Amino acid sequence: MSVAAGYSDPARVAARAQALGATPIGRSVHGRELVAISIGAGERVSLVLGGIHPIEWIGVEVALGLAERLAAAPPADRRVLIVPVINVDGHAAISRDLTAGARRYRRTNQRGVDLNRNFPLGHAGAVTGPLAGPLARLVERRAGAAPWSEPETAAVATLVAGKAVDRAVALHAFGRMILLPWAHRGATSPRHAELLAHARAVAAALPARYRILHTGRWPLFRPGGLELDWLTSLGALAMLVECGRGGLEARRPSTWIQPFRWYNPAQPGTEVDALVHALEPFVRGEP
Ligand SMILES: [Zn+2]
Repeated sequence: MSVAAGYSDPARVAARAQALGATPIGRSVHGRELVAISIGAGERVSLVLGGIHPIEWIGVEVALGLAERLAAAPPADRRVLIVPVINVDGHAAISRDLTAGARRYRRTNQRGVDLNRNFPLGHAGAVTGPLAGPLARLVERRAGAAPWSEPETAAVATLVAGKAVDRAVALHAFGRMILLPWAHRGATSPRHAELLAHARAVAAALPARYRILHTGRWPLFRPGGLELDWLTSLGALAMLVECGRGGLEARRPSTWIQPFRWYNPAQPGTEVDALVHALEPFVRGEP
């Protein structure tokens, strides 16, 4: 059985997105198409972003699962926009690695930019705290020359421009956490109490324990340029979900040296279904 059994490779992602009427929204550094799935109609918009970090395939499964669930029963009064894979080049590269048996860790796009440091709020240099010096140098190299410097993040910005995004979920892995803004500063976001109530409802609907954390309260550093903060700045209630607990198994040394397995459980189905079920009411716009 392949390492990625139970996950969607690029061809499968494309087929599932196509079946939901996905449309192109831009192209990657290497010219691959980024697509968005649009479900429902209405002025208000929920945004779901997956696959911003290449190796975090479980988040892509949750994005597609949400899209399929919502397409079967679209929300009455809002539109849901779902980008299942933002870092399409990275996703394809991981797929090639897995096929070739290469155990590579990948986090960036094809220009070496961590796309989740390429958004505008706190972009490059907002790192504070005791590790600010060395981390700032690392972060600045990976944040891109400027906000939106990368075609993949620019495609997301164009998709969202002019739309009233009031709910947003960014899907990552791993750690079973729901991260709340701000990330680049210690303060809580303007609608923190409301957002926290939604995060608690999501966590309560999950069988596994998901911790809710205020990202900017991390003691060692505050990451800048995250989608979470950008979405919050648009006025959206936004949460970043670290899906699953990864797939490291103490008694299986083969999992220790397989980066894909650090981030993705061997059997994603149950956790993916639970996340889709738990996130759906929030994405659907329920109070
Ligand atoms: Zn991530």
